Amino acid sequence: MSLINRIKKFFGMEAKPDIEAEPDAAKSAEGASEQEVEKVAEEKAKPRIGYIHLSGCTGDVMSLSENYDILAELLTNMVDIVYGQTLADVWWDDENPMPEMDLALVEGSVCLQDEHSLKELMEVRKRAAMVCAFGSCSATGCFTRYSRGGQQAQPAHESFVPIADLVKVDCAIPGCPPSPEIIAKTVVALINGDMDYLQPMIDLAGMTEACGCDLQLKVVNHALCIGCGTCVMACQTRALDMTNGRPELNSDRCVKCGVCYVQCPRSWWPDEQVKKDLGL
Ligand code: SF4
Ligand code: SF4
Repeated sequence: MSLINRIKKFFGMEAKPDIEAEPDAAKSAEGASEQEVEKVAEEKAKPRIGYIHLSGCTGDVMSLSENYDILAELLTNMVDIVYGQTLADVWWDDENPMPEMDLALVEGSVCLQDEHSLKELMEVRKRAAMVCAFGSCSATGCFTRYSRGGQQAQPAHESFVPIADLVKVDCAIPGCPPSPEIIAKTVVALINGDMDYLQPMIDLAGMTEACGCDLQLKVVNHALCIGCGTCVMACQTRALDMTNGRPELNSDRCVKCGVCYVQCPRSWWPDEQVKKDLGL
């Protein structure tokens, strides 16, 4: 079964007949050597990835490109970038249909007053097996939560929401930006169909609101905080301090990225996996 159909099956979506996997497909390459046929088959099996740039700053895709040592391998041999102006110079409009994708990395939130962004997001949802909210703007709104409009050249552009407010999102990689490592590991897990690895990212798809105050509300107030300070280390705006062994928020500095809560070791506990590992 091709990757796109495996992913669709995992998410309970209808899988199409597996045309790529038909053995006769190889025979159509008449006159080609065995190695050439194998190469074509291998290329076909590479996950097709699209990068969609909505109201984001390009920092997330820059973080992807900071995988210096494995970037060439990733982009040349492991995935096909089939959509996206920054990475592939491929865009979508009435004359250029959007290609099918195994994974769509959507950077940025959506401006409700920008018709093209809205249409592009809807089209991505139709074309991609897995839609990933890539970075905090896309996942939680982040900086764009403070947008109020009134600026040139588009003063009417005032309302920005995380993409999961408008379409079903399958996984999220919050971060402002996410680290190069987590991006690479997510893509590799996807290539390997390692849904266990992807499970936290799948669970985070529903987290569309974030704030440093989540630590108080969801961790400290539930007596889960162990005072490790990971949240303080993770915050890139220095909005958090440890006070008497507990995180304290300076809300004036918080940009609502959600990274502190995501990185907290007490925010996601894989009960099912732990039980499985312990044989319970
Ligand atoms: S406290 Fe820092 S890490 Fe947490 S949501 Fe605010 S800006 Fe992000
Ligand atoms: S990362 Fe979580 S457990 Fe650690 S200090 Fe922050 S809130 Fe407490």
